[in-house]
Amino acid sequence: MKKPKLLLHICCAPCSTHVLTLLSETYDTTGYFFNPNIHPRSEYQLRIRTTERHFVERGIPLITPEYQPREWFSRIKGTEGEREGGARCAICFRMRLEETARAAAALQFDLFGTTLSISPHKDARLINQIGKEAGISFRILFYEADFKKAGGYSESCRMSKSLGLYRQNYCGCIFSKKAREIQR
Ligand code: SF4
Repeated sequence: MKKPKLLLHICCAPCSTHVLTLLSETYDTTGYFFNPNIHPRSEYQLRIRTTERHFVERGIPLITPEYQPREWFSRIKGTEGEREGGARCAICFRMRLEETARAAAALQFDLFGTTLSISPHKDARLINQIGKEAGISFRILFYEADFKKAGGYSESCRMSKSLGLYRQNYCGCIFSKKAREIQR
């Protein structure tokens, strides 16, 4: 039987490991690496190359749209000083999920989703709410999930370690990078 076509927003290779295993059984999955939040460009390149390698190894297609850091900075203007998990993150999730929903509808996928909820630092309820709203705007079904549950996060750590994947030590934007540097 033909599997439904899922366009999956990928935040980074380590977060995709376990999620791909879970979803690929049921869905004909394609990755979508849209992360204009990642700063600096060299870090973006490192994360995208790691993701590309991982997808090639697993034989799963990956779409890599253009990097749009200027648009991201313009969208989050006024929330630069927010802590991680605050208003800036909601805008950041929305930008990435709306673009994935737009692409999924344009490319005639049956539904779309995201790996974002696997992180213990990310609020799955907020991600799912924004995903559903993006789905309504672009008339496409959103796959609701909290992938960190049932040991999902630990499994993604185990898999990425055993595969030797690069794992970053900050979420992605310059503000999360600075916050991490202060903590050290
Ligand atoms: S901390 Fe992470 S989710 Fe929040 S704005 Fe920065 S990159 Fe986006």
